[in-house]
Amino acid sequence: MKIAILPGDGIGTEIVAQAVNVLNALGQKFEMETAPVGGAGYEAHGHPLPDGTLKLAKEADAILFGAVGDWKYDTLERSLRPEQAILGLRKHLTLFANFRPAILYPELVGASTLKPEAVSGLDILIIRELNGDIYFGQPRGMREAPDGPFKGAREGFDTMRYSEPEIRRIAHVAFKAAQKRGKRLTSVDKANVLETFQFWKDIVTDVHKEYPDIELDHMYVDNAAMQLVRAPKKFDVIVTGNMFGDILSDAAAMLTGSIGMLPSASLDANSKGLYEPSHGSAPDIAGKGVANPLATILSAAMMLRFSLNLPAEADRIEKAVKHVLAQGLRTPDIYESGTTKVGTAEMGSAVVKALA
Ligand code: NAD
Repeated sequence: MKIAILPGDGIGTEIVAQAVNVLNALGQKFEMETAPVGGAGYEAHGHPLPDGTLKLAKEADAILFGAVGDWKYDTLERSLRPEQAILGLRKHLTLFANFRPAILYPELVGASTLKPEAVSGLDILIIRELNGDIYFGQPRGMREAPDGPFKGAREGFDTMRYSEPEIRRIAHVAFKAAQKRGKRLTSVDKANVLETFQFWKDIVTDVHKEYPDIELDHMYVDNAAMQLVRAPKKFDVIVTGNMFGDILSDAAAMLTGSIGMLPSASLDANSKGLYEPSHGSAPDIAGKGVANPLATILSAAMMLRFSLNLPAEADRIEKAVKHVLAQGLRTPDIYESGTTKVGTAEMGSAVVKALA
């Protein structure tokens, strides 16, 4: 089993090192190969997704990814910015289904910014389409407005679009995921304003005919944002487009106490996947040894379950994470008085110890 290890930038290197230690402690034979990506790829090879890194990602059975980005690259032309690496990997490997489980561990109820009664027991799954929508739609750019009340003025523009096969394949993934959980699916759209999302709603409704055991409802994205912070436990599985999913899953992250707790999996049609924490490279805390490595360690667990067919090992990691939280160990982002504050490496070592 070959795993491509792409730590990236900022805290990416710190948190991925801990996840690798955890994988090594499982007693399995993994072949792991590391390659630069993002800003690190640009520094090493002049491109955020160097050819060698893409080749490794294509050859590997799964990819463990840290995070990319740093403010210092903001002046580079867009195609060379670190964030293009993750968009490129998603596109080149057709990783179209992003799974972001938002689970609140009982020990972290106090770390959430929401009242305990609103979030305790939270266990929802957000499925975000990753290959389409306004993030990839062409044409896009900056130009002189060709028409409208500001004709001739400079304007920026992007194109929102979804094809029927793209919507069908993510809808099937979402209905199947709902079958393994509470059998409820909420499709989030903006059908009241956007043609793209009226089309999305129509196709999801059509796919639903194949899943009569699933209760489907539709919700506008503005209402979904409100419900996520008002009554998040009402949701079971949410499926939505690339941009709405990007935003809603970050909001869901805060329900769980910290974005540092939220793993993710991005899968292709054959369950090959890229596994990464839901957060970015956190330049504000990079190099300080305080980043929470648990989202990355939990992403490694998802990798074992979804791509490497090692569900028992995935369970072991998740139990070890629960154990360290029950021991009261907390990185600063989830710290509360009465618990023990630890750094990135101490948290990683505690998980390794708990595995034993
Ligand atoms: P971010 O997720 O990096 O950070 C947001 C906040 O959360 C910061 O205060 C940070 O300190 C905190 N945080 C994030 N991860 C944490 C962890 N593991 N432990 C403790 N605290 C944590 O988002 P941002 O600041 O908007 O972006 C920083 C850079 O990351 C940008 O260049 C952005 O483009 C990039 N980014 C990359 C990815 C990715 O690699 N997939 C995703 C999002 C943002």
